[in-house]
Amino acid sequence: MDDRLNNVLNTVKKEDQCLHAMRLIEFDMQTSCPEMGMNKEGELIAEIEKQAFRIRNDEKFIEDVLELYREKETLDEYERALIEKRYRTYLTEKNMSDEISHRHSLIEKQAYADWSIAKEKKDFSLFSESLGKVININRERIDLRELGEGESFACGYDILLDRFERGITVKDLDRLFDGMKERLTVLLEKIRNSKKKIRTDFLSIPATFEQQQKAADFLKELMGLDPKRSALRVCSHAFSDRMERDDVRLTTYFLPDLFTSNIYSILHEGGHSLFELLSPYEDSDWFIYDNKTLGMHESVSRFYENVLGRSKDFIRLVYPEFQKIFPQILRDVSCDELYEAVNCVTPSLIRTEADEVTYPLHILIRYELEKGIFEEGLKVEELPERWNRKYGEYLGVTPGSESEGILQDVHWSSDFGYFPTYAVGNFYNAMYIGRMKKEIDVHSLIKNGDIRGINRWMQDNVFLKADRLTPKEWIRDITGRELTCDDYMDYLEGKYSEVYEL
Ligand SMILES: [Zn+2]
Repeated sequence: MDDRLNNVLNTVKKEDQCLHAMRLIEFDMQTSCPEMGMNKEGELIAEIEKQAFRIRNDEKFIEDVLELYREKETLDEYERALIEKRYRTYLTEKNMSDEISHRHSLIEKQAYADWSIAKEKKDFSLFSESLGKVININRERIDLRELGEGESFACGYDILLDRFERGITVKDLDRLFDGMKERLTVLLEKIRNSKKKIRTDFLSIPATFEQQQKAADFLKELMGLDPKRSALRVCSHAFSDRMERDDVRLTTYFLPDLFTSNIYSILHEGGHSLFELLSPYEDSDWFIYDNKTLGMHESVSRFYENVLGRSKDFIRLVYPEFQKIFPQILRDVSCDELYEAVNCVTPSLIRTEADEVTYPLHILIRYELEKGIFEEGLKVEELPERWNRKYGEYLGVTPGSESEGILQDVHWSSDFGYFPTYAVGNFYNAMYIGRMKKEIDVHSLIKNGDIRGINRWMQDNVFLKADRLTPKEWIRDITGRELTCDDYMDYLEGKYSEVYEL
């Protein structure tokens, strides 16, 4: 092997060991570490992060990456994917001195603390100063982003979007959201006027910890999550993270008065976990395993949670087992009633509790505000009013307090450009599911409980090249088509016309 490539691989391996250690400590902090142990674990992470930063900023390493990047046409596919990834990291960090990144992290820490207090006190004015500073450090991120050879961005906000969904721009999102907005508001209006009554009373009947644990274990097994390569823990919120290629952790939480919350958390986080576990081993060997974007990841998690998990076939499959696990809840509830209840559409104020139909509108609102801030001079003090007006316009609801409105998400205490990935994920999966349905008999597979059969299709078509392609290349590779919101809208209109007898 080329000496330079050898040096790059060895260096990246050392950096990766640091990242692995950091992920383990972070997982411990979120699931097990007692309050008094938190500080020292935080210090440990900061120290390892410094070490990782030193390793990847080694002069010889950067020199080798730049030289190999110039010769990238001579590299094979994996070598090239690794070098391109390292080149992107170089562009992001080139103009970021220690001093700047330290200043940014202090501002973010303070912003997080201010946001928590403001949210609790339902008072935006306690967060607005910090929010202004976070907006400024994101402006600085835009200014400091080194441009690659032949690279250009049409606007600053494109640079922020690119951090989370490579190659997706304001131009793309405007086109996608415009197409979506019109059809979605029409659909929502029809649902609102529908005479169909959906029964949801039983959803709030209490379930015990043991029952919810049983349901979680049942679903993890059903999804085909290898018990030797994945671990499930219960904590205060649901998330999943890859520790290394054979070690994926997922968590869930149990709301006593909403047993479906745990169920859909497992399906969502289980989807993220399958994506990591069933990606090619080479992606780990070449340290490009985290090239898959947030939008790609959300497409997979939302496929398992919504498209699969809220389908009639899937509810038919799990209903008998759920009846056994939750007799006090489902005793006089039919399978169809359960199906309708988990697909009930209710315009609400809170994004994380939103149904499939209204969810993208929550994202649209955040996207329009972010674009307003970075491209149209929207001021911090105008945000709460603008937020409320958009909620009234798109969803027909008005926040009763700033906690339910402008203060509801943690994201703006550090990042902008993140939210659109949630919606783009829906657009991706609606596109590839069309092909899946042509190639495998999804209906029979679910009926027979063979979720692994679906996983195999996902592995061969969706997961296979995710770490080696940009999102646009990837969706074109799977479907032969350009990114569109049409398939997603077709899916929503088809499904909810049936549920609401439109
Ligand atoms: Zn997710």
